[in-house]
Amino acid sequence: MTNRPELPPEIARRRTFAIISHPDAGKTTLTEKFLLYGGAIQMAGQVRAKGEARRTRSDFMQMEKDRGISVSASAMSFDFEKFRFNLVDTPGHSDFSEDTYRTLTAVDAAVMVIDGAKGVESQTQKLFEVCRLRDLPILTFCNKMDRESRDTFEIIDEIQENLAIDVTPAAWPIGVGREFMGTYDILRDRLELMDRADRNKVAESIEISGLDDPKLAEHVPAHLLEKFLEEIEMAKELLPALDHESVLNGSMTPIWFGSAINSFGVKELMDGIGTYGPEPQVQSAQPRHIAPEEKKVAGFVFKVQANMDPKHRDRVAFLRLASGHFERGMKLTHVRSKKQMAITNPVLFLAADRELAEEAWAGDIIGIPNHGQLRIGDTLTEGEALRVSGIPSFAPELLQACRAGDPMKAKHLEKALMQFAEEGAAKVFKPTFGSGFIVGVVGALQFEVLASRIEMEYGLPVRFEASQFTSARWVHGAKDAVEKFAAANKQHIAEDNDGDTVFLTRLQWDIDRVDRDYPDVTLSATKEMM
Ligand code: GDP
Repeated sequence: MTNRPELPPEIARRRTFAIISHPDAGKTTLTEKFLLYGGAIQMAGQVRAKGEARRTRSDFMQMEKDRGISVSASAMSFDFEKFRFNLVDTPGHSDFSEDTYRTLTAVDAAVMVIDGAKGVESQTQKLFEVCRLRDLPILTFCNKMDRESRDTFEIIDEIQENLAIDVTPAAWPIGVGREFMGTYDILRDRLELMDRADRNKVAESIEISGLDDPKLAEHVPAHLLEKFLEEIEMAKELLPALDHESVLNGSMTPIWFGSAINSFGVKELMDGIGTYGPEPQVQSAQPRHIAPEEKKVAGFVFKVQANMDPKHRDRVAFLRLASGHFERGMKLTHVRSKKQMAITNPVLFLAADRELAEEAWAGDIIGIPNHGQLRIGDTLTEGEALRVSGIPSFAPELLQACRAGDPMKAKHLEKALMQFAEEGAAKVFKPTFGSGFIVGVVGALQFEVLASRIEMEYGLPVRFEASQFTSARWVHGAKDAVEKFAAANKQHIAEDNDGDTVFLTRLQWDIDRVDRDYPDVTLSATKEMM
């Protein structure tokens, strides 16, 4: 990834990113502070608390309340200095799912938040690896420095070793735990002092001229200063200096130290995202890639949130604009169906509010209310038959049979399951033999979530039971080869929700057998959503 100098200024100022972290590291708190400094909300606390007044302001907010979910938090836009930030939320549950992966296809960078006392935790590591697959630039925020934390070198070493990425300090902490008093901003040669008394106050900045500036001693007690100078000396010797190109290609991460809850270090991080983070990037697509500066609008759906209103069955598709300047009312071609869609009510999510998006630029995320036409992986263009690639669908790791409590309601069940399949919440397979459905998910918790949503949104009690199958593989090959294979293995064959052929089994041996006996077909654990 490189920054492309020729981007129009409106596009060049956009930074679209996600936060990756382990639960409890401080993602929500940091998001609130981002919004606070982005001027999007008046007071921190609204992301979590969301005043009742705000919630009831529109029906939409009421739906969110009923569902107990926060839809507007799926994508948030705010301005900071000359930048427009688009923060895309990664699903919060600890069950790692495709949802998360797809969310990361819609961003150009990730902010990795770690807890200074805990270092790199399991969920962070998993999410990092997903970012690595796309060489996403990563900016790191080491949070909770106001508490007892690990030694700075130890934290940096751990990131370098566990994640195999170069780490360059953008700031260096002064004092630890109760003695933590702030950081030295290496990039700007400044001292940032934390105010423990006022959590919403922006840190005091003191310009200094080099590490031998006597001003340092005026502000930092001698015993802390001595240790700090020793450490920073060592850091300069042992750690690489910031190299913008390496940050952009994902091989180096700058690290900031702070305390989100004390509003400390957040502005410096935001400034870092703006200054060192990537502009909107080229999107891979077939038959050609899409560059952000192209005049014509193109975008792709990376998330669908369905049933926001159980009565109306409406959905919002989240579209990442890959190119151009979008204006409300535009007619775009839905490439999969070749149909035109007038985008009359696009939504932009500004913190706790949502607004009609009069316009949007490459890099932005807009929500498009629709009745089910838009699915994950769909591309919208001004006519050209482009299809964004790289949004995968994974073979589920857990399969269960799903039955309606009332057998007369099987048709309703099918409708409900198809709906969730399109939303990307589950894979649904209809075996050629027997009745019923096999539902596949990536994390066990998803079965419970599905059962309760089907009951709530469709008034349909369902049971999930052990299935005779444990693995699903998509069958690829020429049409007649796939048909021949399916005919010979009927007991194992199902259709997925797109009508594609799937091989179900409980034995790895079966998969090996197919590989050996049917050279004309291949079984795979992923398929591209198109
Ligand atoms: P999330 O699960 O990653 O979204 O984490 P939250 O933002 O909800 O934070 C988890 C807990 O850590 C909450 O109790 C926060 O108040 C607390 N927390 C967040 N940032 C800081 C910080 O800088 N210092 C301290 N001491 N606590 C923090």
